[in-house]
Amino acid sequence: MAKKQPVEVTRSDISNPFVEIQEQIDAICEKANVGDTCRLRLRECERELIVHFPVKMDDGKIYVFTGYRIQHNDTRGPAKGGIRYHPEVTLDETRALAALMTLKAAVVNLPYGGAKGAVACNPKIMSRDELERLTRRYASEIALLIGPEIDIPAPDVGTNPQVMAWIMDTYSMNKGYSVLGVVTGKPIELGGSRGRFEATGRGCMISAQLASKHLGIPLNTARVAVQGFGNVGATAVKLLAQIGCQIIGISDSKGGIFNPNGLDVPKVVRHKKETGSVIDSKDAENITNAELLELDCDILIPAALENQIHQRNAPSVKARMIVEGANGPTTYEAAKILSDKRIFVVPDILANAGGLVVSYFEWVQDLQSFFWSEEEVNNQLRRVLDNAFHEVLEMSQRYKVDMRDAAYMLAIKRIADTMHARGIFP
Ligand code: NAD
Repeated sequence: MAKKQPVEVTRSDISNPFVEIQEQIDAICEKANVGDTCRLRLRECERELIVHFPVKMDDGKIYVFTGYRIQHNDTRGPAKGGIRYHPEVTLDETRALAALMTLKAAVVNLPYGGAKGAVACNPKIMSRDELERLTRRYASEIALLIGPEIDIPAPDVGTNPQVMAWIMDTYSMNKGYSVLGVVTGKPIELGGSRGRFEATGRGCMISAQLASKHLGIPLNTARVAVQGFGNVGATAVKLLAQIGCQIIGISDSKGGIFNPNGLDVPKVVRHKKETGSVIDSKDAENITNAELLELDCDILIPAALENQIHQRNAPSVKARMIVEGANGPTTYEAAKILSDKRIFVVPDILANAGGLVVSYFEWVQDLQSFFWSEEEVNNQLRRVLDNAFHEVLEMSQRYKVDMRDAAYMLAIKRIADTMHARGIFP
């Protein structure tokens, strides 16, 4: 591998994520010739709740945590979006993620609006009891906004099916009866859907298959690099390896590993389980996260956090195709650079929509109390993503724009049509 210094992400590469989304919405509304009513409404979040709440820690001390629940827009249906537990979450990050959810639901044509929640905390250093108390109190604080017909949370970074089970239980205790459909991403025994846990990574694999077919890249010899080895990244790696891709690079928050001849994925999974990280795996060279993003490969999947590909490292990205597993992994400036380099990007609102689609299936199953087989879930997921991919591709060819702009145009046009049909109250 070339030993040039790769570019690490710094604070100066990260602009305000909500302002960035507002700029994108402005630009796309102009390109799509969508009126000002839709543009002005999509630039803002409809409802924003900020909560500061006390939690008793195991040592008896009381900490006051800050949390958010933001509903960006519910024109097309109940608001839907994950809950993030991370020490650095901010109001503007949560707003930006909520806006992305509105667009994601519209691009895959689900009857949902967008929302996001967050608590500024570090789940990695909290005990299970502390996490349960924090979750139940946060769920009570946001209870006035959530519900199966209003706003349905789901897991995101730092939360998991257990956290969703506590939210469902807290909400149900206050109602006096069990409400399965108040959150998705629940354990199977509590109304969760088969296939939900793997759905986002599976969606990335389906997106990679559809894009490779379009570009004429044979997947059985494709070299793949994946940043992030959590729910999304690890599932995408496993599924892509199963269909014959060569996984040459993987990373997590501690660093990355590289083998130009392909990593032994089951061995890396075992190593991660035993040591907590992929680094120092046998038969692989340790690399940094910055180096991973610049690997010479066919498919790059950023599946960790936001703003990983920015204007200083985008010129060095060598992948032929990027499948955005994470939300917002590419800054607005970097997206333009990738587009100029003719790198085919399946944007986040399409590539990682698998989790949202199967969350929708979970909600439908909960409302009907009728549960599907995993095969049915996976087949329906493929059908929805296949349709959305081809609709975005068609939009990109018709308007001569890249896939990101096309996905935003398709989503915004759909929302504008619904807004127009509904009119303005009163
Ligand atoms: P996760 O917490 O399970 O995994 C995150 C992974 O990223 C971990 O391996 C972690 O070590 C790694 N990571 C953290 N910081 C990093 C850094 N600075 N550099 C490199 N790696 C780093 O989270 P997840 O659920 O897999 O989510 C990953 C991304 O996908 C997020 O952007 C999330 O919003 C998005 N997403 C998740 C879902 C879902 O269903 N889980 C759905 C849609 C989008």
